[in-house]
Amino acid sequence: MRVFWVNLFLLLGICLSAQEASYKFGDTEKKEFLQMKSLKSTGSENNNNIVYQRLQLNVNPNFYYISGEVTSYFIPSTTISYIEFDLDDTLTVDSILYHQSKVSFTHTGDVIHIALPVNITEGTVDSVSVFYQGTPPSNGFGSFVQSKHDSVPIIWTLSEPYGAKDWWPCKQGLSDKIDSLDVIVTTPDSFKVASNGLLVEELQVGNNKIYHWKHRYPIATYLICVAVTNYASYNIYVPFGADTLPVLNYIYPEDTAKLKSETEMVIPFMQLYDSLFGLYPFSKEKYGQVEFGWGGGMEHQTMTFMGDFGFETVAHELGHHWFGDKVTCASWGDIWLNEGFAVYLSGLCYEHISPQWWMPFKQIRIGFACSDPAGALYCYDTADVAHIFDSHNVYAKGAMVLHMLRWKLGDSLFFAALRSYLQDPANAYSFANTEDLKSHLELVSGMDLNSFFNEWVYGKGFPSYKINWSQDFYNHVNLILSQTQSDPSVFFFEMPVPIKFKSAAADTTIVFNHTQSGQSFSFDLPFAADSLIFDPELWLISSNNSVTRESSYNFATRIFPNPVSSLLQISIQSANYQPATIRIFNDLGQNQVNEAHNLNAGDNVLNFDVSKFASGVYRISIGDAAQYITSTFIVLPGK
Ligand SMILES: [Zn+2]
Repeated sequence: MRVFWVNLFLLLGICLSAQEASYKFGDTEKKEFLQMKSLKSTGSENNNNIVYQRLQLNVNPNFYYISGEVTSYFIPSTTISYIEFDLDDTLTVDSILYHQSKVSFTHTGDVIHIALPVNITEGTVDSVSVFYQGTPPSNGFGSFVQSKHDSVPIIWTLSEPYGAKDWWPCKQGLSDKIDSLDVIVTTPDSFKVASNGLLVEELQVGNNKIYHWKHRYPIATYLICVAVTNYASYNIYVPFGADTLPVLNYIYPEDTAKLKSETEMVIPFMQLYDSLFGLYPFSKEKYGQVEFGWGGGMEHQTMTFMGDFGFETVAHELGHHWFGDKVTCASWGDIWLNEGFAVYLSGLCYEHISPQWWMPFKQIRIGFACSDPAGALYCYDTADVAHIFDSHNVYAKGAMVLHMLRWKLGDSLFFAALRSYLQDPANAYSFANTEDLKSHLELVSGMDLNSFFNEWVYGKGFPSYKINWSQDFYNHVNLILSQTQSDPSVFFFEMPVPIKFKSAAADTTIVFNHTQSGQSFSFDLPFAADSLIFDPELWLISSNNSVTRESSYNFATRIFPNPVSSLLQISIQSANYQPATIRIFNDLGQNQVNEAHNLNAGDNVLNFDVSKFASGVYRISIGDAAQYITSTFIVLPGK
């Protein structure tokens, strides 16, 4: 799922700093989500495996109402005497049929409890049909929404995370994908119905039409959708191996000309994802893009709903079809496996297709991630929907943590590990948690990522780096890399830290294996650097970093006598062997002496005959043009 604010941000041309934007737009988003707090997960008992569901629904966009029959085929996981479904109490269950006979049931606490007339043994396929109707509850998120476009009514659904039960009897947890699905919707014949899978039949019955959508891939409950209005539809085609894949677009008639090129953006995006992550996972059916009235997007399996068709929304929702739909987060705590990936994939589209936006993309996400000093990527409070869809931690930090894993592993191992995660039969067309992802990254890379996940996924906050460095005449660099953490839950963020050293003529980037704060590094550069840039390519989440160049000189001086009339003696205590230039200037700034010396470790005594100097104040500098220490002395008159 994606909300509208990031695109708005890009439309503004990134005229705000990331920090400002995160507050402006992040807060707007949060308010929208806070209305959803009433949405709660319910507790139908999971004593069976749903293998097939057929939703036969009546939806007329002119009326905020739904009626229908939902037939579920299930296999008990033990011998059962009852079966339960989630359905909001606002809706009325008229009857429930089991083997063509009505059975008794209760419907309280948003759970339908159906007493079966006989026990059903483990492993036996059986079925039950629930007949229901009513006015779906109006939750702010929009699980079932009636609206208008160009004065034409529309009804759409958006069930993530806890909203499926608002409009149909289901099992809405994250443990059982429905293996096979039919959605059959009757509506007045001026409207069209969008749903998952393939449209296999469009049947005129009187003034109504029956649209039959058939989906034969496993699907999580929250990814099932219906949208009904006077859609115009057209196909575009994506090259797909030796073939093509159809992308079906359901667009408001008044917007088809305007949105044509936006809907076509999906073509290069899909080709990119195919190459990086394996072919589109639902290729036997299609991909779909449906216009709806919510200001964002929702990755309904094979039939994405979008309120804006911006670059990032199109890329984000398509990306979910690998990360979110094919492999679905196993709990809402693991939601970053959906959202962090979808954000990151939209970043990959910038990197490969519109590279001028790749750096701003990373800059903005780092800014968002660092706007919450105590934020964790893992979602610990899944009762609060605002936390599940936290744009700062789950979305932005999620994307940049993936980027850091890519930095740690390198491109080849990182993408291989992601393909391995997506292809694992335990994950593919099923559910996965954070540890499942970690195990694939570890298996492919051979790295132990315990610390990384504890710091970056389960821990809170981010580091601030402090760099103190110096370079001497021989271009030898001493560098001390320190780090503080924004939250005490993490003692130290261990990462390879890239630093670029540059001069007008040359530059080089060195990666420091940072394992403790205050760690010192000593090395030679092939040139004299005038500055350094911390993390020049933006691989790391960090904020409030500082860079200080120290003097490379490590000595103390004493000048005597002062005032002087003939022989000036300069005593230099040097910590090590190092070159130094001695320069003496008169009070007009005219250079009187310019001599190079090599200082030995310990005492060095240099003598200068100033008897020929005019009387006055002189300045002596010891060092080089960039760094030096100075003193003054007085030459007496009347020598
Ligand atoms: Zn999303």
